[in-house]
Amino acid sequence: MTGARMEAETQDALIAALRLQLDWGVDEALEAEPQDRAVRAPERVEAPAARAPSPAPAALRAQPQLLPASVAGTRAQALAAGADSLPALREAMAQFEGSPLKETAMNLVFADGVAESGLMFIGEAPGADEDRLGRPFVGVSGQLLDRMLASVGLSRERDFYITNILPFRPPGNRTPTDAEIALFLPFILRHIELARPRLLVLLGGVSAKALLRSREGITRLRGRWHQVTINEGQALPALATLHPAYLLRTPSAKREAWNDLLMLRRRIDGTD
Ligand code: URA
Repeated sequence: MTGARMEAETQDALIAALRLQLDWGVDEALEAEPQDRAVRAPERVEAPAARAPSPAPAALRAQPQLLPASVAGTRAQALAAGADSLPALREAMAQFEGSPLKETAMNLVFADGVAESGLMFIGEAPGADEDRLGRPFVGVSGQLLDRMLASVGLSRERDFYITNILPFRPPGNRTPTDAEIALFLPFILRHIELARPRLLVLLGGVSAKALLRSREGITRLRGRWHQVTINEGQALPALATLHPAYLLRTPSAKREAWNDLLMLRRRIDGTD
């Protein structure tokens, strides 16, 4: 085979591999530097038993050390408890090295809106747009949420504060695992404590189940006021409702979400 033909075949194979990734929904790069997968890995040679371990390659050495899972939870609790203001909590979360999500995310997504408004919305985790911009609910589902809230007279610039259970985007927007939710729980509980809202709104099943410590699905939890217990046993009224991303996929559910927003409006106005 000629060199030119081999090159063309390698290129076709690479294009086919890329197409396959697109078919599988892979649309994000996970590593900052591209890797040439066409280059063969060198043959593996067994090291003699007594030989000292060779130093890690530079790319590996540059990675921050991830805390072992057994200490990550304790560290999260200590960092969250030690934060005495919202900026300090943001900084503590940025310092936290206990989750691999930090390595794949572009930005920490802390919160948006008016922290002193007394009304706090809590979603699941940032998506691609939120990760890129470092702000929660700025993509299509966030825009739908803003429009729905505007229709009951609530604006992000004036009336509410908004954040997520997880501050980092799970790769490919997958649902957060129970372990990830448990790991970040001390941060969101401290976040609520420091923002001191009078009312909470839990957007979607991940948020509702995590903060209500419930195994029930969102369709059963929604449309009702519950109590979220934060640290020291303090309880706050929390309305569970459908996530705007679900409403984008299931427009027929908008009626239920609308009823929930009317419940919220009545509670704010003291007319319920
Ligand atoms: N979905 C969420 O739960 N949070 C965001 O910030 C964006 C989409």
